[in-house]
Amino acid sequence: MKIIGVLGGMSWESSLDWYRMANEQVRDRLGGFHSAPILLDSLDFAEIEALQATGDWDGAGRILAAHARGLEAAGAGLVVLCTNTMHLVADQISAAIDVPFIHIGDTTAEVIRAKGLATVGLLGTAFTMEQAFYRDRLADHGITSLIPDEKDRATVHRIIYEELVRGIVTEDSRQAYREVIGRLVAAGAQGIVLGCTEIELLIGQQDSPVPVFPTTALHVTAALAAAEE
Ligand code: GLU
Repeated sequence: MKIIGVLGGMSWESSLDWYRMANEQVRDRLGGFHSAPILLDSLDFAEIEALQATGDWDGAGRILAAHARGLEAAGAGLVVLCTNTMHLVADQISAAIDVPFIHIGDTTAEVIRAKGLATVGLLGTAFTMEQAFYRDRLADHGITSLIPDEKDRATVHRIIYEELVRGIVTEDSRQAYREVIGRLVAAGAQGIVLGCTEIELLIGQQDSPVPVFPTTALHVTAALAAAEE
């Protein structure tokens, strides 16, 4: 198996799940003492969040590209970025390395397509919901994304930054997300993309009347498959 280079820490709450699920999947598949060969580069999220807040995506892209190069130099055979939002700079990262970059939007879109769905609701940070990069990536696979209205987007974004990236999970926020999901389904969503790696800490299939697409878990599966190619 190739070594998986993981750009994590954005936030570490979800990177922890990425790391755990990767090891669980390898254990379940290979048995015995097997675990996932991983190089984890866990960044200080405060530095990245400050660049998000000021809109310095180019600066953030330069930092992530440099870290990706570091993972490649250290022996990674592929690189993954454990955050949907920072895929805004995916092109900068993949251009900086010679090994494959496994895009979280592609891995999610492939599973949505395999289920035969064409229209999904997209939950994530305001950056992911409002800027075009993520919806465009899904559209490249023939998938239309619906996003919540302005008030619901503010709620979804606030809960991510004030609670989930700090490891805070509350029943009130779960209920708020369930209601947003209900409105997206009423608007025509056939599935819901949990397009922020921390949303899986809060929401599961039991919270939605239509299929949910947990981007962290789907990304792990795709990265392990690529590592075995
Ligand atoms: N992990 C989140 C995501 O998947 C949000 C934190 C970040 O902005 O990186 O979008």
